[in-house]
Amino acid sequence: MLSNIFRGGIHIPNPYPVKNPKIVKVPPPEKAVLILQQKVGGQAKPCVEVGDKVLTGQVIAGTSSQYCVPIHASISGTISAIDKQPIPHPSGIDAMCITIESDGKDKWVEKEECGADFLSCKPEQIIDKIRSAGIVGMGGAGFPTHIKVSSVKNANTLVVNATECEPGIMCDDSLMQNYPREIIRGTEILLHACSAKKAIIAIEDDKQEAFNSLLMYNHNDKITIQRIPTKYTSGADKLLIKSLLDVEVPAGKHPSDIGVLCHNVGTVKAIHDAVIDGRPLVSRIVTVTGSGVEDPKNYEARLGTSFASVVSQSKPNKQKHKIRMGGMMMGVDVNSDQYSICKITNCIFINNFEPEPQVNECIRCSSCNQVCPINLLPQQLYWSSKSESIDKALEYNLDNCIECGCCSYVCPSNIPLVDYFVFAKAVNKKQINDAERADIARQRFEYREFRIERNMSERAEMMAKKKKALKEKMAKEKQQKDKIADAIQRVSKSKENKDA
Ligand code: SF4
Ligand code: SF4
Repeated sequence: MLSNIFRGGIHIPNPYPVKNPKIVKVPPPEKAVLILQQKVGGQAKPCVEVGDKVLTGQVIAGTSSQYCVPIHASISGTISAIDKQPIPHPSGIDAMCITIESDGKDKWVEKEECGADFLSCKPEQIIDKIRSAGIVGMGGAGFPTHIKVSSVKNANTLVVNATECEPGIMCDDSLMQNYPREIIRGTEILLHACSAKKAIIAIEDDKQEAFNSLLMYNHNDKITIQRIPTKYTSGADKLLIKSLLDVEVPAGKHPSDIGVLCHNVGTVKAIHDAVIDGRPLVSRIVTVTGSGVEDPKNYEARLGTSFASVVSQSKPNKQKHKIRMGGMMMGVDVNSDQYSICKITNCIFINNFEPEPQVNECIRCSSCNQVCPINLLPQQLYWSSKSESIDKALEYNLDNCIECGCCSYVCPSNIPLVDYFVFAKAVNKKQINDAERADIARQRFEYREFRIERNMSERAEMMAKKKKALKEKMAKEKQQKDKIADAIQRVSKSKENKDA
């Protein structure tokens, strides 16, 4: 029984639910554009050249860095470009991509299957399979999964986060309804890989079908399927862990620091596919929804497929659209439907264009304070961020804000509070960087001064030594000369005496 439901948060009804749980498979595209840089970690290095023929699942960009994952061809065909292309990011920046033109055959590379016998694999072998399959956090975080799994040995609990990240996204719900066996098996693989004593699959209480499906396939005593209230942001890792286990992950720490591993349910399915079927991450489930489409659906699309070719199957209307990748709360607005689906594209919102609501003055109603799931004071954070009093904002724990958007959502004055907090964090980061840079410059200057002073004193010491040595040498020489003169004098004196 769940006893630690966190305070705050909001219940947001899904405005455009996907009614049919079926996942529609989008045919492999004629052209796939694969991004080499994931949200977290370094950029993979191409190991193919333009003109090369590739098979589906073949590694086309590898890596020697731990914090980076390889990229696999999502279709078979010919490499037609390795260059910078626009990626789905609010700034519209370009990033290195590999483009494959399809040969229409979707011929797969030979897979290294491990079958159901994963228990005979050592945990390190499983972690290596996860890394080789290019798996990153599928809930939107994009963190390399093998790093997370290997970050804790003998974990006490594995938490499978089966809550949808945000209202509107339904890809995890459909995944659980369609692949319950694979998700249970994926959980068992992770239990084995991190030697956890138990696993909890946390699922929102409005996902009855998914809950029933998982329950039907779970015959493992170590795995519990736990329902939690449908409330945004109950799926945030730290809050979920607090609700399930009644333990706090301290600020600035990760769940792994307290022996808990938390993985998104989509990541668990990808781990199943990689370990059991030897299938690398070449596709993902994407929800297409919003006021601009008639038929919201969940699709399985190959990575590198354009947003437009998936969205076109959901019957978009003819109005002008706003496109958003990710959920309605924390997603990012993008300026084109020509971007490619990447490993973290869990949802594409197509909304009819509407003018932004008018922003008014803060009326100090405190609604924002009441909904903050982290117990912050967004109203105070707003005033300090607005006046760029970053130290004050930090006193109000700006760093702990998870940018969930609950405060902005309830604000009657339509103040984009999160934008202020993101701005304040960026200013703080810049100040820290500037201070660090100034500190490094000061250290360099001080070292240079010290070096000059040390060189001068070393030189003076050396000169004094030389002078002393010279003096001693001259004194010795003089002594020698005097001795010789004395000797000559003595010799000439005795000669004179003999002659006399
Ligand atoms: S909800 Fe908006 S208007 Fe109300 S206190 Fe917070 S910032 Fe001010
Ligand atoms: S965005 Fe930050 S301040 Fe606002 S409710 Fe979420 S955690 Fe609290």
